[in-house]
Amino acid sequence: MEGGLKPMDAEQLREYGHKMVDFIADYYKSIENFPVLSEVEPGYLHKLLPDSAPSHPESLQHIFDDIQTKILPGVTHWQSPNYFAYYPSNSSIAGFLGEMLSAGLNIVGFSWITSPAATELEIVVLDWLAKILNLPNEFLSAGQGGGVIQGTASEAVLVVLLAARDKVLIKVGKNALEKLVVYASDQTHSALQKACQIGGIHPENCRLLSTDASADYALSPAVLGEAISNDVANDLIPFMLCATVGTTSSTAVDPLPALGKIAKSHGMWFHIDAAYAGSACICPEYRHYINGVEEADSFNMNAHKWLLTNFDCSALWIKDRSALIQSLSTNPEFLKNKKLPLMLQASQANLVVDFKDWQIPLGRRFRSLKLWMVLRLYGLENLQGYIRNHIKLAKHFEELVSQDPRFEVVTPRKFSLVCFRLLPHNDEACASKLNHDLLDIVNSTGKVYISHTVLSGKYVLRFAVGAPLTEERHVNAAWDVLQEKASTLLGSM
Ligand SMILES: *Cc1c(COP(=O)(O)O)cnc(C)c1O
Repeated sequence: MEGGLKPMDAEQLREYGHKMVDFIADYYKSIENFPVLSEVEPGYLHKLLPDSAPSHPESLQHIFDDIQTKILPGVTHWQSPNYFAYYPSNSSIAGFLGEMLSAGLNIVGFSWITSPAATELEIVVLDWLAKILNLPNEFLSAGQGGGVIQGTASEAVLVVLLAARDKVLIKVGKNALEKLVVYASDQTHSALQKACQIGGIHPENCRLLSTDASADYALSPAVLGEAISNDVANDLIPFMLCATVGTTSSTAVDPLPALGKIAKSHGMWFHIDAAYAGSACICPEYRHYINGVEEADSFNMNAHKWLLTNFDCSALWIKDRSALIQSLSTNPEFLKNKKLPLMLQASQANLVVDFKDWQIPLGRRFRSLKLWMVLRLYGLENLQGYIRNHIKLAKHFEELVSQDPRFEVVTPRKFSLVCFRLLPHNDEACASKLNHDLLDIVNSTGKVYISHTVLSGKYVLRFAVGAPLTEERHVNAAWDVLQEKASTLLGSM
């Protein structure tokens, strides 16, 4: 690599790193100039790039030019203040710095010895966050439980399902696998179904119980109790309940205390998925949404959604870590530290945590750095203010919607998501098409990006506030676009 860019030259890193930071800072400065939702056609990039990789080095400037002209047009700008789709994926300076340092150290922390600080910081930071959320002490590392950072909520529910499965199979025998039943509501994230597929749960034994508007799409304890009784009568074995606080569709909150009681009385594993809404629970006034977490065996929230920690950082706590380790540990010879001094044989003596045994892959990044930096550089009070501001903006949007008689708010807002729609003129089928068209027209302006869901067969628009750059003026501007396009659409009918 004569003359060109070396893999690891400190001065070149400084030079190129500064250029990249400048590039990203300029991107954030001009982010509102891009259409929020990318407007490219499928396959657009293939036509713009060469068929094979270059034989000779190219310049960074040349690549920056390509990023501007070829990559950014194909980016949907999740960090745009006009992004209101799905749920947010927060970026922040603190999170970004943590990511940088993690890339800089580039350790692979599968066991304690591979970087003691990586394991130990993760333990400390997840204890901090557990205390901020006021989780029960059993989730702290001091006892039999503890926290671990997974990549996503999907991985969290998978590892928990495997632990729950194996725990019950040890009791009832391996041959009972096809009798195991998992329960959740029909609003539960599809990650649970995927976990069942991977975990070998019989496809017919994933009970997604019906919810409806009368209970605000929360899982009914009576419906759960009845389903369990039926299954037990049919010689099936209930083994896991997955409740959600803040469903992906409409932020429904399952009644944890009542559900937890049922789960316990049947010896089932009780998992709580609070991927999005868990962040709100750092504020005392929203903490009540996870009342009942005391009964849970595991609890999960995504710091990468709404807590200023760059993707990926999904925090999972578990009360009985041995259940997880039982399912996920392997101990191949090549990872043993036989020749090391006694002190370093800690892993084998179970003196330390080896996070490889708490997750699917062996390798893992030093992700706790970014959560640590977020908690320290912002502090709890600022983080609470951040959440409250988004909820205030969502409340403001909800008021704007309810003041326009052409629209309705479909489900009561709890956090920073507003579910709303244009009211039907004739029948429901017509309303779905109307709202579908409105969504397409609004998103194609490039000024705003919102998404949709279906609730009780109704096509519903979702407006999720949560991008770090969003201010009241962006919410107002989004509402202006919605009103204007609704007028056009209704006028043309
Ligand atoms: C977003 C979300 C998920 C999935 O999150 P990933 O981290 O992308 O797997 C799961 N459950 C709920 C309630 C969510 O909102």
